[in-house]
Amino acid sequence: MYNLIIFGAPGAGKGTQAEIISEKLGLYHFSTGEYLREAISQGSELGKIAKAIVDKGNLVPDDIMIKIVKEALTNNVKNGGFILDGFPRTIGQAMTLSKIFKELGLNNIKVLHLIVDEKELIRRLQNRGRTDDGEEIIKIRLNVYEKTTKPIIEYYSKAGNVIDIDAHGEIVDVNNKILEKLSI
Ligand code: AMP
Repeated sequence: MYNLIIFGAPGAGKGTQAEIISEKLGLYHFSTGEYLREAISQGSELGKIAKAIVDKGNLVPDDIMIKIVKEALTNNVKNGGFILDGFPRTIGQAMTLSKIFKELGLNNIKVLHLIVDEKELIRRLQNRGRTDDGEEIIKIRLNVYEKTTKPIIEYYSKAGNVIDIDAHGEIVDVNNKILEKLSI
């Protein structure tokens, strides 16, 4: 049973790899970005709040995101077997997530850290064409990642559960590397 967090910059391939891994290992895949995009397209209350923030490349406030993730994990993860994609993105989210894991009796969490250089990230994001993938917004998102999200990796490194993955190259090769490092 694998309890995973997939971590990395925008464009590192988190969503793509999480999709494949969750299918191969039978894990519950929860993507906060997908959840927000769905809410935005439905025009729900959450969607209305999130739209302006997401379109600008900023982060939706911690209290909102934590509530969403807590509910998703509580309702869908009983004895483990999940991959979290796009969360946590702030130290506050990471610390609260540790508490949620504890409350739900989820342990042996591993963080898959996808590493891709900035040039390649920008190339991938430009080819993707999402509404938050315009040139200026890409810069903001990469900046938010460097300043706010990337430092979280130290929080997890201290606990010794980070798996670094060179995530340049083909999707299938990166996927094989991940599965190898999980020693499957
Ligand atoms: P993603 O699909 O993971 O790239 O997320 C797209 C956008 O959704 C981000 O740029 C943020 O605006 C928002 N978002 C997703 N996850 C989070 C999170 N954990 N905290 C705050 N905002 C988030």
